[in-house]
Amino acid sequence: MKRITEADKLIEMLEAAGFEAYYVGGCVRDFLRGQSRAAESVPADIDVTTSATPDEMKEVFAGLKYFETGIKHGTLTVLAPAEDRKADGRKYAPVEITTFRTDGEYKDNRHPEEVRFVRNLEEDLARRDFTINAMAMDMRGNLIDVFGGRADLEAGLIRAVGDPDRRFQEDALRILRAMRFAAVLSCGGEDDRGFEDGRGFEIEPKTEAAMFRNKELLGNISAERIYAELKKLLAGPHGGDVVRKYVDIIGVFIPELLAMKGFEQHNPYHRYDVLEHCVRAMETVEGSGFAEDYQMKLAALLHDVGKPQKFFLDENGIGHMYGHAAAGEEMVRNILNRLKADGETRDRVCALVKYHDLVFQEDRRLLKKWMNRYTPEMLLEILHIKRADNLATGNMSEELAEKFDRIEEEIRAIVEEQQCFSLKDLALDGRDIIDLCKGRGGAPEGREIGQTLQKLLDEVIDGDLPNEKEALTARAAELLGI
Ligand code: ATP
Ligand code: MG
Repeated sequence: MKRITEADKLIEMLEAAGFEAYYVGGCVRDFLRGQSRAAESVPADIDVTTSATPDEMKEVFAGLKYFETGIKHGTLTVLAPAEDRKADGRKYAPVEITTFRTDGEYKDNRHPEEVRFVRNLEEDLARRDFTINAMAMDMRGNLIDVFGGRADLEAGLIRAVGDPDRRFQEDALRILRAMRFAAVLSCGGEDDRGFEDGRGFEIEPKTEAAMFRNKELLGNISAERIYAELKKLLAGPHGGDVVRKYVDIIGVFIPELLAMKGFEQHNPYHRYDVLEHCVRAMETVEGSGFAEDYQMKLAALLHDVGKPQKFFLDENGIGHMYGHAAAGEEMVRNILNRLKADGETRDRVCALVKYHDLVFQEDRRLLKKWMNRYTPEMLLEILHIKRADNLATGNMSEELAEKFDRIEEEIRAIVEEQQCFSLKDLALDGRDIIDLCKGRGGAPEGREIGQTLQKLLDEVIDGDLPNEKEALTARAAELLGI
């Protein structure tokens, strides 16, 4: 029999010991969506649910490597036997195996008071969030679909299991998860890699209405859980549509977006209100190979967050927003601190927002100076935000688009040709200056070394001096009056 995944072996072991065990949740959903491409669309994360308790599981898997990752919640993380993992040279994630359970009573709209292990699969499926996530499959490929998940999957519908109000009141994060799945999943049967342009999933109307009714409960959810879902949501192929439709919900934890909604710019360069402009920038922005997708999306979505605050209308009825980038940076820092984003993401996104209105010119010298100031990676990311920003005005000319392309090529060429644009590329360093000064009698001050090197770098970038040790030494001697 053809294996579904390497976890078949683990399921087999549980069955052989007299327990029930099934694939469950996201991996079943993704498996059904990618069925026509079977093996290669096997999902990365595999969850298994079983009638065995954690102690019983430990007995069954005594000969294998496992980790007690969530024993209280009934989860054991097990590594399938090596021979089952090596089959096709892929890297396999460990398999999370969890005892059938229900979640007991919830308090504070987030945590169940206790989990209760049960011996019945249906009870376990009923605690899951959406019908498309509440299916199980045995290792023979038989589907257990109590809530109509398969039909919803085919129709592209995200529907709460049971009464949506109750489910969102139990755990309000589910509101954001519904939006995340709407942003990430595409219709069309195959997996989303092949269907990025396909229609996105809709949220079933009663589920959607309950999301709006209960949105304030997201205030009880930890920043970490919110941010983890938000990242995935923004990076999804339908993230833009989800922000448009559900901005009032996202506004519960990023109220700054609400001020952008419907904010008219009164400016001939802009066709759209601030939020629509930013959503469009987010939809078109592409990484340049350095930042993560979600970091670029965050930067694009928030790049004009400072506009409403800085807006003024001149006597001709034209809107201006001087200083909005700096104001925006400050706001974004607050937002990302509040969401407990990691420091690297926060600083990167803040820098992109701060510098998004740099005026690029096709000037190799200027580009090198900026590459030195911002690093080539950051400069490329700024350029990408800038391009998305211009595209999203709805008025970008062909000419401007081509200019951005040429500038990008230029930056990449400078890096590739290993041209000198920073002190570390300079063919002379501080030690050389100190040696040089021995002839002068007396060591130079640190400040003098720094200034001399900087002057040399400027002249090399300006093309007035070759980046060669001899020429640099001679010029340094001149500058130091030796
Ligand atoms: P992916 O891993 O692709 O992000 P997933 O559906 O596997 O999607 P996980 O967060 O890994 O999502 O959760 C695994 C399963 O656990 C889900 O499919 C769902 O059945 C259940 N689940 C996760 N979070 C919740 C929740 N907050 N409320 C109810 N059920 C949940
Ligand atoms: Mg998962």
